[in-house]
Amino acid sequence: MTTANQNLKPVTTKINAKGNLEIGGCDLIDLAEQYGTPLYVFDEQTIRTIAREYKQAFKAYPKVSMLYASKAFMTKAVVRILDEEGFGFDMVSGGEIYTAAAAGANMKKCLFNGNNKSYDELQMAVELGVGLISVDNFLELALLNEVAKSNNKTVDILLRVTPGIECHTHEYIQTGHLDSKFGFDLTQVDEAVELILEEYQNLNPVGLHAHIGSQIFETNIYYDEVEVLLKEAGRLKEKYSLNLTHINLGGGLGIKYTENDCPPSINEIAEKIISSIKDNAVKYNVEEPEIHIEPGRSIIGTSGVTLYTVGSSKQVPKGRKYVAVDGGMADNPRPSLYQAVYTADVVDKPVAEPVETVTIAGRFCESGDILIKDIKLPVLKEGDILCFYDTGAYGYSMASNYNRVLKPAAVLVNNSQSDIIINRESYEHLTACDVIPDRLKNKA
Ligand SMILES: *Cc1c(COP(=O)(O)O)cnc(C)c1O
Repeated sequence: MTTANQNLKPVTTKINAKGNLEIGGCDLIDLAEQYGTPLYVFDEQTIRTIAREYKQAFKAYPKVSMLYASKAFMTKAVVRILDEEGFGFDMVSGGEIYTAAAAGANMKKCLFNGNNKSYDELQMAVELGVGLISVDNFLELALLNEVAKSNNKTVDILLRVTPGIECHTHEYIQTGHLDSKFGFDLTQVDEAVELILEEYQNLNPVGLHAHIGSQIFETNIYYDEVEVLLKEAGRLKEKYSLNLTHINLGGGLGIKYTENDCPPSINEIAEKIISSIKDNAVKYNVEEPEIHIEPGRSIIGTSGVTLYTVGSSKQVPKGRKYVAVDGGMADNPRPSLYQAVYTADVVDKPVAEPVETVTIAGRFCESGDILIKDIKLPVLKEGDILCFYDTGAYGYSMASNYNRVLKPAAVLVNNSQSDIIINRESYEHLTACDVIPDRLKNKA
């Protein structure tokens, strides 16, 4: 059975009677006219479908909680949708914690994670009752214990570890191999546990946390990850009589960005994880743990598309043809950051013969601001609207104001209705934090 992370397009994508692309029952030409471009469009049905596919895939193992990795794309409306679907939130900053709380997330179901959390952020997490804190390093053990003590609380923690598993993904998005900035090396876990048991009375260690990378297409590494964590839990049980009941496996499942990508289904990942728990809980003499799954990209990536308007173009004599759009690396840094590959359609000619190979360039002042290198499309003209697929994850969440360009708006579509979920920035927003010192003020 396939799951929607294996689709290239949102589940509601259609060609309508006018011959235009439609998502969530909304004609994309109409959305571009109504809201302007660049525009992020998120399909609510795709988000909910994938969230339910995750829950369904783990039906056979009831001791599971789903946490959405907020860093993929977080806004209050997304928190509402995933809270309704029963998800908690994996959060990595005060800003993400604030957003989750402001949108009414169940903070007990949430986890605070990150390799350099500040005292103030830890304080905020403890005050707001975030259910679990994944402690990354020795400094944080000391800081968090201090914060917990000053709040008269005992805080449930996971120890973030690097399981030493290499996966075949881009170097910058690998996190689980040994030489990583995240988490305790397995050889440092004993020292951390001894400190907790002997000195840090306000920390209650309940489990282990790992995350092995992102845009993962292999399924066996999830089997291996569970084994490494259960083996470690068994070892700590034996050595310290420490009963670790929770295993957080992180996220990382890949999505389909182009026709060449064949990510596994959510069910295949779930089967590997469950079979590894069944095998390894026995092998390492631990109880079957509560598990946490933290998908980010695979929940939100496929649901989002970006609409751009075509502007100028340039044919390099005997070279490439560049077609520029009104967005680029500031709203989608992934092509320049990771050489990420995308695919796109012309919104009012989705089935026209692709006759011309062009390179879609962004509008920002960097030669590297190329969104798609060499894509075959129908002949493009100024004013055409392009729909880029699979921009839901790590697009808006990594967006910047480079060149002082305003961040785009985002709309949520469902049942032929579209609603703004992020307003387009204005020049007033853009300059709201700027201050001119008195001595530089124009005296005139
Ligand atoms: C980034 C991250 C995730 C989500 O990764 P995806 O590839 O977006 O699923 C989950 N857990 C942790 C700890 C992360 O750092």
